[in-house]
Amino acid sequence: MPYTSLPMGTRMNRRAFLAATGSAALLAACGTNAKAEPPRPGAILPGIASDPPPPPAAGGPASAAPAATPATRVVRPQGTYERTLMAGTPWATVVSVRDSGVAGNAAIVLGGVHGNEPGGWMAAEEVATWTPRTGSLLVIPRANRLAIDSFVRTFEEIGDLNRLYPGDPASALAMERMAGEITALAAEFGCSLALDMHESWAFYIDAPGTGTAALGQTITTGQGPLWPNFGPAIAGALNDGLPSHDRFIVRDGTNLGRPAASATPATTGRGRSSLSLGGHVTGLTPVLVEMGQQNQDVDRRIALHLLVARQALGMIEVL
Ligand SMILES: [Zn+2]
Repeated sequence: MPYTSLPMGTRMNRRAFLAATGSAALLAACGTNAKAEPPRPGAILPGIASDPPPPPAAGGPASAAPAATPATRVVRPQGTYERTLMAGTPWATVVSVRDSGVAGNAAIVLGGVHGNEPGGWMAAEEVATWTPRTGSLLVIPRANRLAIDSFVRTFEEIGDLNRLYPGDPASALAMERMAGEITALAAEFGCSLALDMHESWAFYIDAPGTGTAALGQTITTGQGPLWPNFGPAIAGALNDGLPSHDRFIVRDGTNLGRPAASATPATTGRGRSSLSLGGHVTGLTPVLVEMGQQNQDVDRRIALHLLVARQALGMIEVL
């Protein structure tokens, strides 16, 4: 199915969104090192059927991890260039950087964190060609390049990138070192959004709560200044234009992060996914999107990822 055959949904007025979430401060703070204001409690966007999840419990993820020192948000000169993460290693991968030359938010988009989720990395390659209107657009289309080359989720000996944030430069696991480079890159650019593009097998709507194999068509938002309204706003803008089975289900990513007291390093799981990045990069809100592979061809999954990316980046005025 060609991308153009999908409805574009209702484009939310960006100023209205930013004002409603209190994130206008993100824009106002551009070019300074001022800290963004937190969202106003209870601010619900008009026209969005929002049922925001409860705030994190006391002592939860919001206060669990010390945030990095805020990066000074500079207006970078207009330009398109590449950086390389883990340069000179077998895991080296390219970061596409596009600076608009205009003050604004920076966003980082991840694809290929898992190599057997092609809708994510193929969509990310497309996003890497988009031109930001303000701020900067960073895209890592093939975060786990070796896994993509072998079309597997990952390899045990390098670790699962989406279980290893904020990373560790001294780790024996290559993907834990990669996580550290991604975290540092997001901090360096003062990113306001990390959009992580994944695929699951089944659809959540068919088997809710059954685990990571049935997360198709979900948008999950972790801790950060755009929580909790950002995910519902994306879904609200797009869902009316989608068949009911394809519609995005919004999930709260702030309650996925607390490992049980009995957790071992192998089971700390999603507490170290990209949804934890807001606890490590000041001003960043992580969003993780999963498309369903079951009975949905890859062109359709790519197109849906691109719809979400365009909507999310539009709402923070990067597009
Ligand atoms: Zn994945």
